[in-house]
Amino acid sequence: MKPIYMDNNATTRVAPEVVEEMLPYFSEFYGNPSSMHTFGGQVAAKVEEAREKLAALLGAGPEEIIFTSCGTESDSTAIWAALRSNPDKRHIITTKVEHPAVKNLAEYLGSQGYRVTFVPVDGQGNLDLDYLYDHLSDDTAIVSVMWANNETGVIFPVEEIAARVTDHGAVFHTDAVQAVGKVPINLGENKVQMLSLSGHKLHAPKGVGALYVRRGTKFAPFLMGGHQERGRRAGTENVASIIGLGKAAELAAAHLEEENKRVKKLRDKLEKELLARIPNAMVNGNPEKRLPNTTSIAFEFVEGEAILLLMNEFNICASSGSACTSGSLEPSHVLRAMGVPFTAAHGSIRFSLSIYNSEEEVDLVIEKLPPIIERLRKLSPFWAEHRKKASCAC
Ligand SMILES: *Cc1c(COP(=O)(O)O)cnc(C)c1O
Repeated sequence: MKPIYMDNNATTRVAPEVVEEMLPYFSEFYGNPSSMHTFGGQVAAKVEEAREKLAALLGAGPEEIIFTSCGTESDSTAIWAALRSNPDKRHIITTKVEHPAVKNLAEYLGSQGYRVTFVPVDGQGNLDLDYLYDHLSDDTAIVSVMWANNETGVIFPVEEIAARVTDHGAVFHTDAVQAVGKVPINLGENKVQMLSLSGHKLHAPKGVGALYVRRGTKFAPFLMGGHQERGRRAGTENVASIIGLGKAAELAAAHLEEENKRVKKLRDKLEKELLARIPNAMVNGNPEKRLPNTTSIAFEFVEGEAILLLMNEFNICASSGSACTSGSLEPSHVLRAMGVPFTAAHGSIRFSLSIYNSEEEVDLVIEKLPPIIERLRKLSPFWAEHRKKASCAC
């Protein structure tokens, strides 16, 4: 049975065109791009071609792109670079709903003597901008705000924030791992100074990412060693994956419209039909300012993990909370920050689609999920109690 894969915010299928582009760089062209000989040089040229393709997707210059090993490394590099190049400033601003790649580093830095402000969100997951601006000070080294949330898909007004923050003299970084390839990004038209992305979230392989650093931004490398990436990221390049990321960037630009029309339509159908067929279900997050591929739906009075397990029998792949929080009984920090009630947060499922999803797959989920929820609610003491209360009221 072919998986019905609706977990694209966790990772994506590597596009067949990307695989094809990569293959010769394992076997035929295996030279080191730093080597002096032509054999290495032709690999270096291909890496530069990938850099140009990725820069083009972002509206950036190729010299502003640093290839890294993942989104997490890009986030860490950006935050450490801002702190090391502004050693007198001891304040960091970020949000309560960041991916662990930013959140856990910010918490660590808080334990190491930095002052860290975590900006709250409202019930729809929108950022409290006044709170952010009120906490900006001359001591603020960096403001790091994600472009789009991985759990709810909610999009933050990062371009507006970037303008305010940089006017104030702080560095602005955005974790755009979920935004790249799903929303148009033009770094030529905004003030974002650093931007992180990850290959495996946009149909390139796992284990490759990139960090955009705007020309003129003070920078200190995270990995020190050889002179690769113009001294900004040491270590021999993950050549094949970088070439794959370049190809994926080219495809992302070509597929942006499909993402925002066909995929969005599939997402909307899935969401609308599930809400119509299942009582006590609601969407988590701002339904308008949202990625086109993502819906997080709370099914009250059931366990998300149990839903996943029963969906798994039909090979339907989705996610409860974020991949990093599943496995623990705590509901996701994102849903908690939004104030989603316990009984809803625990039964929240994220469906994240891609251009590889079909309407038949959406229809199958719409058919299979309602009886699953019904079955689980029959076993749920919370649901029984809720029904009793509801019937008392009439
Ligand atoms: C997946 C993800 C990351 C981490 O990227 P990796 O390449 O897996 O390290 C960071 N931020 C967000 C928003 C993500 O969705």
